[in-house]
Parts: sequence; structure tokens; C-alpha cells
Amino acid sequence: MQGTILLIYTGGTIGMVKSAGSDALQAFDFKTLLNNIPELNLLDCHIDTVSFSRPLDSSEMNPQHWVEMASIIQNHYDKYDGFVVLHGSDTMSYTASALSFMLENLNKPVILTGSQLPIGDLRTDAKENLITAVQLASLRQNNEPVIKEVGLYFEYKLYRGNRTTKIDADHFEAFASYNFPPLVTSGVRLVVQHQLLWDFAGTKPLKVHTDLESRVGIIKMFPGITPEFFDHLASFDNLKGLVIETYGSGNATTAQWFLDVLKAIIDKGVHVVNVTQCAGGRVSMGHYKTSQSLLKIGVISGKDITTEAAITKMMYLLGNSAPKSEFKTLFETSLRGELTEN
Ligand code: ASP
Repeated sequence: MQGTILLIYTGGTIGMVKSAGSDALQAFDFKTLLNNIPELNLLDCHIDTVSFSRPLDSSEMNPQHWVEMASIIQNHYDKYDGFVVLHGSDTMSYTASALSFMLENLNKPVILTGSQLPIGDLRTDAKENLITAVQLASLRQNNEPVIKEVGLYFEYKLYRGNRTTKIDADHFEAFASYNFPPLVTSGVRLVVQHQLLWDFAGTKPLKVHTDLESRVGIIKMFPGITPEFFDHLASFDNLKGLVIETYGSGNATTAQWFLDVLKAIIDKGVHVVNVTQCAGGRVSMGHYKTSQSLLKIGVISGKDITTEAAITKMMYLLGNSAPKSEFKTLFETSLRGELTEN
């Protein structure tokens, strides 16, 4: 036996059926789901299962659910060699990013997967996704797990979870990681890119962070955004952190009202992070005149981080009371491989 795996079912299309008399999908119980994949019994590992008491469509996901997942992993950490989390695809990249920050010193695999079609569907993508995710979670070399990070497996590729974004609502290839190559590709063989794998290379015990700050927000810039709208959102009384999705390499309007609002909230202590709304590439503040002023007033560079990783990293750093003076440095540093520093 290659090892013991804990399969955690949180919900999502993978385990859904059409409800009686309607076309709407709703979650069904985990036993039924497993009965649909007898192939799992053929794998060279022992699988135990645990399910959320109320499996949910991942659009309902919130930080409390991330805490629940992290706690399940923590409570079973010593007993299992790896963890596979079944999750809806809609917010899977947010969860993968959040878990990567919450699980400090992780040295076992935590692989998220799901599917575009329910497991009972003839053309389902669930079987391949689930079976390969379990195989990846049980991969071992020199008596150690090969993967020691939070990954996301979908349609023949394992990605670093905090580098992913859901890019397609219809196709089986629903995820992309534009700024970091896949860790493993699954063809006739599983090809592992060992040089890309995250390894904190320490012996420190797992530390689980469950305090996440929710008073954060994301504003996407668009040509024509009005001062009233921007000010209204950004000046929300209790805001602690704001991610702005700017254009290209981190550019935004140089209009005075925009800079004034940002400066005022930064002076008040709100952390503002600049990420690009492009699917790939990085923020490089100061490259164009339109981002120089952002740099000057103290906006933090998200570099090539995804929006999903940026907002969850913010929740994590603020929840763990990162000192104000260190927030910028911590944000611009790769903590779990979520960004390329330079
Ligand atoms: N709405 C579903 C969810 O995210 C879609 C999926 O499972 O892929 O839970």
C-alpha cells in the first residue's frame, strides 16, 4: 500500500443530482458518490472519507468553511499521508489559496479537485479527476510524500493551488495557472516537475491559522468608473484591506480624485494591494507614469499574484495581525509560492 488518504467531501457538482421535478442540481450523500466510483477500490492506497454535514455548492463558500476544512486536516494530520478535498469548481481557487496560507509548514499533499459534470453523468470528468487526485496525494519517494503543498488537480494537470483561476464555465479544462507552470501533467504517465514543487524544507510542525479578516474588498477598475462609486466602496468605515484590479502592468487613472481617495484610506491604515486584471503577467509599478503615483502613495505591489490569492493572503495576514510595518514586505514576499518576487 502506498499510503492512507483522507477524502474530504465539501460539495460541488461532482456529488450532485437533479432534484425531483426540476433541472436544478443539489448535493447528494457521499456514500452514493463513492458507489459511483468502484475504481477507487483498485488504487494502491487505503481511503477513508469524511463529509461536510451539509455539502454545499461552492458559491456558498465562506471563510468559516475554510476553517472547517483546515480543522479536519489538522485533526487527522498524523493519521494520513495525504488529503483530497472534493470541492465545487466555482470558488475552488479561492479555497486552494486560502488553505495554502492557513496551513503553514505543510509537508503532506492537500489536493483539491471536483468536476464540471456530476459523477453519475455518462460523460463525467469526475472519475479521472478524483482517481488521479488520489494517486497524486499518495505519491511517495524515499519514504516521503512527493507533493507537500496545496494543489488543484483538474483535467490532466496538477497546479499549485494558489496560482490558479477558474477560466471556463463550460469546458472540462476549467482552470489555468498563467504565471506558473503545472506541477504534474497526467498522460500515459504522471510527469512530475520536481524542480517546481514547493518544499518549505523544514521540520517545523504544521501550524494551522484559523483567524481570517473578512473586512477586505476587491475593486475592479474600468474606464468610466465614477468618483462616487469608487469613494463609496473604498471608504467603507471598517475596511482593513483593499485589492484593486488595475490595467496591464498595474496602471490606473491618474485622476486626482482617485489618488486622493486611495491616499486617504492608506493614511487611515487600510492596506491597498495592486493586482492586474490581465489573466497573466505582473504588476510593475512605476513602469508607466500611470502607476508611478500609486507607488508614491504607498500602494503595495501584488506582482504576479492572482486576485484569489491576493484577497485570501490579505485575510490571512490581517487575521494573524501581521505588524503594520511588515505588512508590505510580507505581502510582496512569496510565503507559499503564490507569487514570483522578481
Ligand atoms: N456551482 C458548482 C460549485 O462550484 C460548480 C462546480 O461544482 O463545478 O459548487
